Amino acid sequence: MAISETEATSFHWLVDMLESVEVGLVIIDLEFRVQAWNGFMEHHSGITASKVRDQVLFDVFPDIPEAWLTRKVDSVAMLNTRAFTSWEQRPFLFKFRSTRPITDTEEFMFQNLTISPLSGINGQVEKVCLMVYDVTDIATSKRALEKANQQLEKLSMTDRLTGLLNRGTWENLLDAEFERYRRYGQPTCLVMFDIDHFKAVNDTHGHLAGDEVIKHTAQVTKASVRQSDTVGRYGGEEFGIILPETGADGARIICERIRETIAASTVKTDVADITYTVSIGIAPISEKPENYMQWLQQADEALYAGKEGGRNRVVVFGEES
Ligand code: GH3
Ligand code: MG
Ligand code: MG
Repeated sequence: MAISETEATSFHWLVDMLESVEVGLVIIDLEFRVQAWNGFMEHHSGITASKVRDQVLFDVFPDIPEAWLTRKVDSVAMLNTRAFTSWEQRPFLFKFRSTRPITDTEEFMFQNLTISPLSGINGQVEKVCLMVYDVTDIATSKRALEKANQQLEKLSMTDRLTGLLNRGTWENLLDAEFERYRRYGQPTCLVMFDIDHFKAVNDTHGHLAGDEVIKHTAQVTKASVRQSDTVGRYGGEEFGIILPETGADGARIICERIRETIAASTVKTDVADITYTVSIGIAPISEKPENYMQWLQQADEALYAGKEGGRNRVVVFGEES
């Protein structure tokens, strides 16, 4: 079959274009032997077209998931139809280093992949073309956005000063825990506690030093409870803890530990070394509150009894005497 000079020239241009296009182009036969390998592939793999030609793709790139790609290519050849996979399903087919200097967070190039059937003169699919798109920019910004959203979500649930759950979130959990008890009846304790004479801390050392004390309380509390216990900042210098699967005796042990640790600590601030105490009220759910607000009230009453009794103490609702 003769081709004209014009046809030859435009064919030449076409090949030139495919060589330099910013998409990876690979033609393989149905045994996965490489038939064509464009400039993009040479550039990112460091392997020249002449070197890779007639090699089995999996021999040159052992990282490629062989079973997966075989299944894909077989179905493309059999159905004579294109297949597409995105970076979200599989981050990359070829493990190329990311070339983005600014996105040093992403080590490898994210790729979308299209597999196209190539038919011979008889109409049979004899080869397939892999088109590899570099989508690192899209993937990077999408991931950054997801991360920012996660952080925002977390921020809106937590208190900025202490990192504890804020009042709204904590109270919702308390409500849910109360409803759970209503159904299943496990022992659970609610704890409310408050820093003693905190106004004096602020008045003597200033608000910033007061904030340091509040942070310290949060740290000690967090370190004293289990992962499954829920700590919240209920108000300025008031905190709440939900202790699931815990009876009054267990709760008392945990609360005494918090009280003693705080009483024995010194908070070193820029202006002074501060010592302080807390009073703690416990309301076991066995005292049959009718709703979570009444449960809170019981814990508050126990806390108040602790203040009345001289502060720096733990009181269980129903055992005030
Ligand atoms: P009591 O032993 O009875 O609890 O005495 P108290 O002084 O701690 O009493 P009260 O609860 O009335 O005082 C709380 C003070 O806490 C008043 C408020 O100015 C201060 N406060 C509330 N939130 C913050 C905060 O975020 N930072 C600081 N530094 N102070 C706060
Ligand atoms: Mg208070
Ligand atoms: Mg107080």
